[in-house]
Amino acid sequence: MRIEELLRENIKNLQPYSCARDEFKGEASVYLDANENPYNAPFNRYPDPLQIDVKKRLAKLKNVPVENIFLGNGSDEPIDLLYRAFCEPKEDNVVAIEPTYGMYKVCASVNDVDYRKVLLNSDYDIEAYRLLDACNARTKIIWLCSPNNPTGNNLNVEEVLKTLKWFRGIVVVDEAYIDFSSNKSYSSYLKIFPNLVILQTLSKAWGSAAIRLGMAYASEEIIQVLNKIKYPYNINVLTQKQAISILTKPARTQKWVAGLLAERSRVIEQLKQIQVVKQVYRTDANFVLVKVDDANYIYKDLVGKGIIVRNRHNVTLCNDCLRITIGTPEENGILISELKKY
Ligand SMILES: *Cc1c(COP(=O)(O)O)cnc(C)c1O
Repeated sequence: MRIEELLRENIKNLQPYSCARDEFKGEASVYLDANENPYNAPFNRYPDPLQIDVKKRLAKLKNVPVENIFLGNGSDEPIDLLYRAFCEPKEDNVVAIEPTYGMYKVCASVNDVDYRKVLLNSDYDIEAYRLLDACNARTKIIWLCSPNNPTGNNLNVEEVLKTLKWFRGIVVVDEAYIDFSSNKSYSSYLKIFPNLVILQTLSKAWGSAAIRLGMAYASEEIIQVLNKIKYPYNINVLTQKQAISILTKPARTQKWVAGLLAERSRVIEQLKQIQVVKQVYRTDANFVLVKVDDANYIYKDLVGKGIIVRNRHNVTLCNDCLRITIGTPEENGILISELKKY
């Protein structure tokens, strides 16, 4: 499979913007090439457009080579860029599981690309042949999310691999919640599947939603396309600095994750004892989807008490479901004690 053949014609022919930091890399003593102000260091200088220092840390931590990493302003940036690179507006389409993370659909609409939904089965899982059945010759991307949001479960590994094997287009696996999962990342499959794109983020396990840093791992060919079409300085200096700082403390993140997983087990056990809770779905993420007796009522009532969960009642296959993020033991305790009162 040739990635180039999947690209939009205008992107294939694009002459990318070449910024000063692209033309001269390396160390010098006098920088007079970028019309920067010589004062107000270090904020006067443009940031590294390819964020090599951040990528080097990630490469070590994730065992993914620097050439296979793209960094974006949150995961939202690579999601949008994948549409812009591969999907011809009004002509191409994408296939996605339903329900899932809302940004795949929003970005499809913004880019005027047809978004085809394939319902998850009763286990909130996929069957590869059903995803492939929904594709035609103009399907460029299949969107998968594992662990999936809002359902919380990992998708079946065999079915994900079949999808990667059978589909002659891009398969995205969004791993925003991978650090909370009992499954391994699909990153070890990057060498086998040139059409695989993995999305990860610093927003969840790494506790850094505020700095907006999302990662895409893929074949060098795909990474080069994303680099070619992104805004030149898409990750600012403050974010790059803070990312390096957090990534040098992986033990701290592991401790948070271990604590949240222990807390998740405790919360699940307690939820199962609560009368208005009808079902607690299996989760591999830092949240749990629960079916309750009247989600709309409970959601509103909890808001009145200053407790905010996510009402997923209007989401396909999630009737009367609330999505509950695992917080601190104290926060979880407050929620549980309120739920006991209904
Ligand atoms: C939270 C989340 C993200 C993270 O998005 P950022 O833009 O990186 O903050 C990505 N995908 C899914 C499925 C999510 O739930």
